[in-house]
Amino acid sequence: MKPAFDFDVNDLYFALSASVDEYIILTDCISGYSRVSKALRDEFGFEDEYIKDFPLKLARRIHHDDFATVKGAYRNVERGMADSYCAEYRIKNALGNWIWIREHSTIVRDGFGKILNVASAITNLGRRNNTDHTTGLLNKYEFESYVNLCIHQNLNIGIMIMNIDDFKNINNLYSRQFGDNVLRIAAQHIQNAVPTNAKVFRLDGDEFGIVFIDHLKSDIKQIYSNICNHFSTQREYQGKKYYCTFSAGCCKFNEQNNTFDILVKNSHTALDHAKAKGKSKIIFFEQKLSEHKTRELKLTELLRESIENDFRDFELFCQPQVFASNGKLKGGEALLRWRTDEFGPISPAEFIPILENTNMIVPVGKWVFERALTICKEWLKFCPDFMMSINVSYIQLYDENFLDFVKKTIKRIDIPTSHIIVEFTESCFVTDKDMLHSVFNSIRELGMKIAMDDFGTGYSSLEILKEVPADIVKIDKAFVRNIQSSKFDKTFIRFVVELCHDVDIQVCLEGVETCEELEIISQMGLDFIQGYYFGKPLDTTNFYETFFRNTVA
Ligand code: C2E
Ligand code: CA
Ligand code: CA
Repeated sequence: MKPAFDFDVNDLYFALSASVDEYIILTDCISGYSRVSKALRDEFGFEDEYIKDFPLKLARRIHHDDFATVKGAYRNVERGMADSYCAEYRIKNALGNWIWIREHSTIVRDGFGKILNVASAITNLGRRNNTDHTTGLLNKYEFESYVNLCIHQNLNIGIMIMNIDDFKNINNLYSRQFGDNVLRIAAQHIQNAVPTNAKVFRLDGDEFGIVFIDHLKSDIKQIYSNICNHFSTQREYQGKKYYCTFSAGCCKFNEQNNTFDILVKNSHTALDHAKAKGKSKIIFFEQKLSEHKTRELKLTELLRESIENDFRDFELFCQPQVFASNGKLKGGEALLRWRTDEFGPISPAEFIPILENTNMIVPVGKWVFERALTICKEWLKFCPDFMMSINVSYIQLYDENFLDFVKKTIKRIDIPTSHIIVEFTESCFVTDKDMLHSVFNSIRELGMKIAMDDFGTGYSSLEILKEVPADIVKIDKAFVRNIQSSKFDKTFIRFVVELCHDVDIQVCLEGVETCEELEIISQMGLDFIQGYYFGKPLDTTNFYETFFRNTVA
C-alpha cells in the first residue's frame, strides 16, 4: 500500500524549481501554456510565469547551426517512438549572449498517444568552447554575443572584419600548419595594436573581428595602419619567408545598422570592396557599396545566363603584339569581352573576378581557348608565324580536366601548338608550386609556350621567376605610365630585359600608348611590345581588316 503522501502540486513545483540549478518548464499542450521557473525567466528575460507558446518562443532563440540537432532529438518523440529526449545546443539569453544548454524533456501522452504534457529540465552549461585554439582569441560565437551585449547596452560601437590577403597562397606555398602559425602571429600583433576599449576575435578561416567602443573613424584607420605597418616587410618564421597584407571592412552602429547581422553583412560588403579595389585597404561601409554588391550579384546571374545560352554575349577580341625591333606584327592576345542588354559592355576587370570567384571561369576559359585556337588557325593562312596568346586563370588549373581538354581541343582544331602562348598572371605563380611545375611541363611537352603576365606587380616577382621559369615575361603596363619621369621604371624595364635575356627568357612590354613612350623604350632591347600605340584590342573582323586584308591567303 502507498504511504500517505499529501503534497500540493503547486507547492511541489515551487519548492522543486527553487531548490535545483536547472530551469524547469511544465507545458500543457492542450491549453498551449507553459509554466516556467524564475531562474529561467531571469536568464531569458521573460516576465510572466505562465507563457503561451513558450516552446516556440524558445526555439526562435536556438543558434541556427544547432537547429538540426534539436530537431533530430525531437524527431522520435514526434513519431511516437520515444517519450523523452535530450539535446545540447546554443541559445541566446536575455543579454543576447550564446549559452550552451542541455535540455532533458519527458512527455506525458493520453491513451491515443497524443502529447498532453511536457516536463523539461534545462541545465545551463555556461559558455563553452569560447576560445579559438589556433590563436587563443575569443571565437565567433563570443564575437556575436559581445556585439549583441554592446548593442543591448546602447554603446557606440564600430566593428571591423579584417583578413589576410591571399592567405591561401601562404598555405599553398608552405603548409596549413605554417598558415596556422602565421594566423597566430597575426592574432598576437592585432591584439597588441588595439587599445583597451577594443576587443579582438577570431572568426572563420583567416578572418578577425574587432569591436571598437567609442572610436572615431580616424582612430580605427590609425589602428588598422599600425597593424599593417608591422607586416609591411617580408617576415620570417622557422626559416621560411612570408609576407602578408590585410584588408578590412568596417561598419559603425547607427539607426540603419542596428543589429549584429546587419553590422556583419555590411562589414563584409566593405571588406569585399577593399579586396576588389586592390586589397591591403580599409573601407568603411556606405550605402553605395551595398548597391555595388547588388550589381555584382546581378552580373553574376547574367553571366550564368550567358554561359547557359551557349556563351551568348561573349566575344573574343584580339590585341596586336609587335616585334620591338621593327614594329611588325608578331601575333595577338585574345581578350574576352562581355556585354549585356541591361548594362552594356562590362570591363573584364569587373567580370573576370566574378567568373573566378564563382568558378564560372572554368567553362568560359574553355570557350576562350577553343575560340582563340579557331581564330589563330584561320589567321595562320595570312600570317604563317602568327602567335596567339591566351589568358588562363589559375582557377582553371585546379580543374582536373583542364589538360585533357587542352589536348583534345588542339587535336580537334588541328593547329600546330608552337603558335600558342599561355599567359598566367604573376599571382598565379605563387600557388601550389608542385602542381604548377607539373602543369607547366605538360604545357611545354605539348609544344606551347608560357608567359608570365603582369610582371612586377606582385611582391616577389624575381623569386617566383627563378623557381617557376616562363618563356616570356610580360612587364606590366604600370611601368610605362610614368616612364617619362620615373627613373625607377626605366631602370626596372632595362634590368628585367637584361636578366631575362641572360636566362633565355623573352620580354614583352605592355601598355605603350604614345610615340614618346616608344622612343624611350626603343633602346632597351625588348623583344615584343603590346600597347594602344600599335593597336587596341579589335574584334576579329576589324583585326582582319587592319592586319590581313591586303595579304594573300
Ligand atoms: P591583361 O592580360 O594584362 O591584358 C592586357 C590588358 O591591357 C587588356 O585589358 C588591354 O586592353 C590592356 N591594354 C593593352 N595595351 C594597353 C595600353 O596601351 N594602355 C592601356 N591603358 N591598356 C592597355 P582588358 O582587355 O580590359 O583586360 C583586362 C584583364 O582582364 C586582362 O589583363 C586579363 O587579366 C583579363 N582577361 C581578359 N580576357 C581574359 C580571358 O580570356 N581569360 C582570363 N582569365 N582573363 C582575361
Ligand atoms: Ca594577359
Ligand atoms: Ca598584362
